[in-house]
Amino acid sequence: MTSLADYRGRFAPTPSGPLHFGSLVAALGSYLDARAAGGRWLVRIEDIDPPRCPEGADTTILRQLETFGLEWDEAVCWQRERYATYQQALDQLIEQKLAYPCSCSRKQWQSHDIYPGWCRNGVCEPGKPVAWRLRSDLAQRPITWQDRLFGHQQFDPAELGDVVLKRKDHLWAYQLAVVVDDAAQGITDVVRGLDLLDNTPWQRQLQVALGFPEPRYLHLPLVVTPEGQKLSKQNLAPALAEDDKSVRRQLFQALQALDQAPPEALATEPPASQLHWGVAHWSVAWLSPVRHRLSP
Ligand code: GLU
Repeated sequence: MTSLADYRGRFAPTPSGPLHFGSLVAALGSYLDARAAGGRWLVRIEDIDPPRCPEGADTTILRQLETFGLEWDEAVCWQRERYATYQQALDQLIEQKLAYPCSCSRKQWQSHDIYPGWCRNGVCEPGKPVAWRLRSDLAQRPITWQDRLFGHQQFDPAELGDVVLKRKDHLWAYQLAVVVDDAAQGITDVVRGLDLLDNTPWQRQLQVALGFPEPRYLHLPLVVTPEGQKLSKQNLAPALAEDDKSVRRQLFQALQALDQAPPEALATEPPASQLHWGVAHWSVAWLSPVRHRLSP
């Protein structure tokens, strides 16, 4: 365990569109946790999937963070500049015989829950385009970690399957990129939405395989619509409003969504005062693992 003084946290949005209220809550949670620990807070733009990232969405996100007073330390990391480093990590896994090329299509194994590992000992259809997968059958088992809110977590790698590290279209997969960059940026604390908790076992598996340190994990309760749906671009969560009055209101609501019980008087205060209060009063113990339902 690192001491709190060495704390390094991050917010790592995929620039698939502007931030919405759910992403503000994740950004604020990781920011407050970092600042309350006297640590550093970094921003990484996870733009490894260009077809999903419209032009300019990254700069919009950075502007939104600034508008909400969420100032980061150190230079922003752009994943599109890091392909050579991902390749080095993949080469290491290949060398360790933990990664293998796979020509199978989803259609071929659709009757199975997870990819059955047919290409583990040789590509089934040589000459066809291949993806690269991580072998889960050779991993240390079970995979465990302690989530700061959701407690002890345990997974059997065999039930997870062989995760894709590099896709057939040559794009890098999130699981590999996130693990390589968290290690490269010296991230000690991953604070992010609960929707990513079920990705953590693969990330732990990769950290072990690549010899990287284990960060602490805190998954934050999800914000859902009054109907109980996750806020996401897919279900048309609106972009954050950026006029001064709305910024104050949304930041206050984000503090409420994080169960920090901000006093009503804070609701009309500018971002700097709200963040100051948030850092001074931040307590993970107040977080409820229950979904935060927005009022209609
Ligand atoms: N880029 C991921 C997303 O926006 C988050 C990555 C992470 O926090 O680990 O969903």
